[in-house]
Amino acid sequence: MQFELDVPDLGAWRAGNTGTEGVWRFDSGLPGRHVLVTALVHGNELCGAWALQGLLASGLRPRRGRLSLAFCNLAAFERFDPARHDASRFVDQDLNRQWSPERIAAADTRERRRAAELAPHVAEADWLLDLHSMHEPSPPLVLTGLSPRNIELAVRMGTPEHIVADAGHQDGVRMRDFGRFGSEAGMAAGARSLLVECGFHGARSSRDVARDQCVRFLELAGIVDAGDTGRLLPGWRMPDAPGRWVLEVSGGVVAKGSQVRFTEPFQGLEVIPQAGTVIGDNHGEPIRTPYDDCVLVMPSLRQARQGVTVVRFARRRRPAEFN
Ligand SMILES: [Zn+2]
Repeated sequence: MQFELDVPDLGAWRAGNTGTEGVWRFDSGLPGRHVLVTALVHGNELCGAWALQGLLASGLRPRRGRLSLAFCNLAAFERFDPARHDASRFVDQDLNRQWSPERIAAADTRERRRAAELAPHVAEADWLLDLHSMHEPSPPLVLTGLSPRNIELAVRMGTPEHIVADAGHQDGVRMRDFGRFGSEAGMAAGARSLLVECGFHGARSSRDVARDQCVRFLELAGIVDAGDTGRLLPGWRMPDAPGRWVLEVSGGVVAKGSQVRFTEPFQGLEVIPQAGTVIGDNHGEPIRTPYDDCVLVMPSLRQARQGVTVVRFARRRRPAEFN
């Protein structure tokens, strides 16, 4: 599929103003939340970089609290090539699986050393919005983790339509689950984190989604007013989603090796009516849906190798039914 999104020229924005390359901070000097928006945790996911560059260029500043903006895996982004966009997801290993104290302290790969640089900024933030995109064309998703507090925030955001409540990955901790963002005590004290998958990596619409998410998140956090975003970021806010679904992920299929296939070119969010339907094959073992009306979340064979999750299964509920 066509990679249509241009590569942003970060230019002067790549330096940052905090002493950490790629990290910006603006402090209103007044009480309020500390909001961190992150992009390029994966080097080939450009939509968030466009949104951050736009926020910086607009001159938007927090009226209350603090705003931090971080371009995360710049080393991977530097290698970006639209013809081989998967190749610049990371340099040595996936930056979004390194967010445990042991892995950060190991400092034995470029991504772990970068996580060590970013960790103090992540640890200081109250609210985190982490902007990503996906291997396959798909409507946008917001990943909340399992906490009802994050799910409630995702519902209040108004977009996107699909809210994925999932426990993360077996192969490492994501940034959005790091420290206080991964503990109920942290969230009880006000921490919130959302990871938004804005659509296919190469879709221009992914940039629109990333921009819309920034406006909504900064306004809900209370650090800017709607008048500020309307004036400085015209056209960024998109209409509310017509409805909301909470997709409760019950588990996923982990590839036993590279010999995994699906029966159809699934794109994600398909609802499979009948429990036990075979949707693919994992090294000779049929992949079956575990319950009726099973939703397929982010099916992708692109990175398929032993240990990688190739599809997740979810039950869907309207938010009012939740809790
Ligand atoms: Zn990503």
